[in-house]
Amino acid sequence: MSRRIDLHTHSTASDGTTPPAQLVAEAQAAGLDVIALTDHDTTGGWAEAAEALPSGLDLVRGAEISCIRDGISLHLLAYLFDPEEPAFADARRELRESRIGRAERMVRLMEDDGHPVNWAQVQGLAGGTVGRPHIAQALMAHGLVGSVEEAFRPDWIGTNGRYWVAKRELDVVEAVRLVTGAGGVAVFAHPAAARRGRTVGDDVIALMAEAGLAGLEVDHIDHDDAARAHLRGLARDLGLLTTGSSDFHGTNKTVRLGANLTPVEAYEQIVARATGAKIVHA
Ligand code: AMP
Ligand code: FE
Ligand code: FE
Ligand code: ZN
Repeated sequence: MSRRIDLHTHSTASDGTTPPAQLVAEAQAAGLDVIALTDHDTTGGWAEAAEALPSGLDLVRGAEISCIRDGISLHLLAYLFDPEEPAFADARRELRESRIGRAERMVRLMEDDGHPVNWAQVQGLAGGTVGRPHIAQALMAHGLVGSVEEAFRPDWIGTNGRYWVAKRELDVVEAVRLVTGAGGVAVFAHPAAARRGRTVGDDVIALMAEAGLAGLEVDHIDHDDAARAHLRGLARDLGLLTTGSSDFHGTNKTVRLGANLTPVEAYEQIVARATGAKIVHA
């Protein structure tokens, strides 16, 4: 029987709506054999997920790192790195701290326009790394938008939108080096998710590969068939492995756990390459 492996999920440690302990329980109920917890810029959910891990489910401890290249925001999945390694740990802390001032500024801009949102409320909605989905929830609570998706339109907090403020992001090649320097394995998250804004060209992916990138997340809800076919060809050319995952965010998105899966061969290569942390078995 083939193993069901989902290598990209979020919990309340960042912008998911499911606490880590509940996430691993739901993963088991969804018939998964392996789940990676990849909260934005944090390892804050690792301990709770490991503690609550149901038998038969393996946990890959990871994170999704906020990056930039040529003015384009991108996400890098980092697996099985040493959470204590100072250079990468400092970088994650700086990313999280910058998100706080940035979210505060976004809320201030809305208040200046007379909207009834406030920073204390957004802080109360964020259990870890604060992000735009928490602001979107505050907007929903006030009936200003009908859904998280609607909050991401340009008249609210969509990228470059009316109330959008930039956050600190790591240069993506530098980030690949930080992840591998901490014994982790780097996979480019949803490289062709054009729905969120501009995406980088194959030249940037080639530079990331030279810097030590291990793989591309090909099977993702934001990729159409043409994008997947292109990325698979590119991965073959560059000697990269390919993964698939749900990018589950609880009720902040509609995608279900296990919506896309990673082939066991790719998973085993990721585990074999990692030197920073081990898989957790219950
Ligand atoms: P931030 O990291 O604070 O800039 O917020 C980006 C996060 O918002 C992403 O990680 C997604 O979880 C979420 N997001 C981005 N675009 C959308 C969208 N169109 N609808 C719902 N959630 C989104
Ligand atoms: Fe997110
Ligand atoms: Fe992402
Ligand atoms: Zn994600």
